[in-house]
This record gives sequence, structure tokens and C-alpha cells, in this order.
Amino acid sequence: MTSHIMPTYNRLPVTFERGEGVWLIDENNQRYLDALSGIAVCNLGHAHPAVHKAICAQSEKLLHTSNLYKIANQEELADKLIKKSGMTNVFFCNSGAEANEAAIKLARKYGHEKGIDSPAIIVMEKSFHGRTLATLSATGNAKVQQGFAPLVEGFIRVPYNNINAIENAIETNKNIVAILVEPIQGEGGINIPAADYLNQIRQLCDANGLLMMLDEIQSGIGRTGKFLAYQHNDILPDVCTLAKALGNGVPIGACLARGRASEILTAGAHGSTFGGNPLACAAGIAVLNTLEAENLIELAQVKGDNLRAQFSEQLKDNQHIVDIRNKGLMLGIELDRPCAELVKTALEQHLLINVTNDSTIRLLPPLIINEQESQQLVNTLVAIINDYTAKIH
Ligand SMILES: *Cc1c(COP(=O)(O)O)cnc(C)c1O
Repeated sequence: MTSHIMPTYNRLPVTFERGEGVWLIDENNQRYLDALSGIAVCNLGHAHPAVHKAICAQSEKLLHTSNLYKIANQEELADKLIKKSGMTNVFFCNSGAEANEAAIKLARKYGHEKGIDSPAIIVMEKSFHGRTLATLSATGNAKVQQGFAPLVEGFIRVPYNNINAIENAIETNKNIVAILVEPIQGEGGINIPAADYLNQIRQLCDANGLLMMLDEIQSGIGRTGKFLAYQHNDILPDVCTLAKALGNGVPIGACLARGRASEILTAGAHGSTFGGNPLACAAGIAVLNTLEAENLIELAQVKGDNLRAQFSEQLKDNQHIVDIRNKGLMLGIELDRPCAELVKTALEQHLLINVTNDSTIRLLPPLIINEQESQQLVNTLVAIINDYTAKIH
């Protein structure tokens, strides 16, 4: 049968019908171990009863009203997010790109209020911020931008994990109003910066009156062993964007702001029809409650470190491994050559993984993964990697 879906994705030849925890089950009742969580979305695994219950209960009452009215679930979710993040307030939307759009608009308006007519935002090489025009312009990947010129102006790109480059950019450009950066680059290859990188960015932002804006869309919601990755450092950003795991599969995004940044987007300056609707917020509340009730954030750290240790041990004699790194359950196994085909090999062995930046195997398993499932993940993937590298001469 011909597909009538616009071919924006090269899809793998499998269709899943249902899920149970870390498992996805296809049309032929075959079970697959999901070590990707729909790209860091289903942090609680598939069909988590708490999320199921929350959205069923909400759907019996109300799906949508409008942001023209007060929305109790939105207030409650914002309240929880503020308490967990140290931020001041929240704008709700429906995706990561939209959350970053809100942050970019906020930064520009902040600049205009300071008398800067052409505000610019520092962004990073190898970053990923989304597929809308502004966010693809902010993204540090030529493939994402290819064919979409003219790009949105006002972004100044510097190498990731390089404080000098940021300092130089600030010195040479008086229009800079903000720095937008991922605490850990996901799409860019699970790139973990120096331990004090974010602290130094915080200092530079304070010294120069810039907004520190963190894209936590992939790294947030417990993934790295803290609720937000910046909590590994002793800092607060001015703006923080969330999406992916916030609804465990129900679309929801959020732009959190603090202090001066929380007063910029006033009535009429920004909006969203669906943003923060009662259903999406019910899912968000259930996600945050469950992370706490099941102690999943602390466990993510332990589980991630165990996985890395096991991969390191079992792959220690493989000469083609460049690096194995993790922050909680955000893991990368970097090979010395492109390895995108491993995604298909793994699928054949009923394991779902991903490869980013051509040569890094990316693992983002659900935070609920247990020891036996972790063991199976390690054993299956190590065999796949060794098979692949054994064919290299
Ligand atoms: C996925 C992702 C986005 C974009 O989110 P969408 O919901 O696909 O728009 C932005 N930033 C980061 C870091 C991401 O991982």
C-alpha cells in the first residue's frame, strides 16, 4: 500500500501496537526493548498506569477550554515546575520548538526593552533547537537548515564547551542579549561539557546583563539524574525550555523564566491555542508525581552509571570505541567511524536504539528500566557492536 504520509522521515519497517514499560509490541506480537523512549519522551515507559489514569479521568471532565480562562491544571503544573526548578513562572505550549520560540521571542523583547534594536543570541555548534524557522536558524547543523534560506537573523554561533569563544563574541558584538545552550547536547552526539561550563556561562551572563537560556528539552525531567541537568551545577538560568518527557507522550512544552525574564512576555506578546490545556497538564502533573513517588530521578543516576560501567567493561578490548559517556540515563557510545546502520541491525534483534552525529550510539532508555532489562540491553548491544567492528579491517 502506498503511504500518503509526507516523506519527512526515513521510517524503520516496524509498526508498534502497544507498549508495556520498556517494551514495545508490534503487530505480530513481537516484543522490542525500547532503549530510546521515543527520543527521551516516554521517561516513565509505555502505558504507565499513573499517566493513563490521569488522562482518562481528565477526558471525562474536560479536554480544552482556552487560555482566555483560568485553567486549574495549568496552575497546578506550573506550581510544581517552579518548586522543582527554582524558576518564577511558566508559559505552556505544545512542543520543544515552540518552547524555544518563546525563549527566543522573550530574549528579543528583553533586548528591545534595553534599547537594542537588533538583538542577537549566542548559540552553539552542533546544537539542536527544533524545526521551526527561528529554531532551525538557532540549530548548529547545516542539514537542518539546508533549503530553508533565508534563515532568521540574530544568531551568533560559537563552538560548544568553549568559554573563550563566548567571551570573544560578547566583546565584539554589542547586540548580544542572551546565550541559548543545551546543558548536554543530545542530537549533537551526547556531548557533555566541562563540569564548570554552565557556571562560567552564568558568570558571563551576570557580568554582561545577558539572559542565560537553557534548552533542557532532552536533558530535563529526570533524565540525567537531576530533575533538570543544570541542577548538577549550583546555578539557575534565566530561561529554561522543556517538552519531550514532560507529558510522557502527551504533547506539551514549557518555557520557564525567572526574575526579570519572567516579566517580559506580557498580555498580547505571545500565545498558543492548545498550550497548557487541561488534558496535557493532567499528564504533566501525573509525570511529576510519579517521578517523585517512584524515586526515578535519583535512580536514573545509579542506573545510568551502572550501564556505562558495564558497557566500558564489556567493550574494553574493542579498539573501535572512542568514548563511552553518560549523565544519568543519557548515554553515548562513540565509535571511530559512522555507524548509522546499527539502528537497523539492533531492530532486527528487537532492540531500539539511535545513532546521532554519525558515529555515536545514543541510548535514552525509560527511567523505569530494571536490572534485568539493563543487562539485556548491554548484552544485546555489545554483541551488535562487536559484530560490526569485527568486520572492519
Ligand atoms: C527534541 C528537541 C527539540 C525540539 O523539540 P520538538 O518537540 O521536536 O519541537 C529542541 N531542543 C532539543 C534539545 C531537543 O532534543
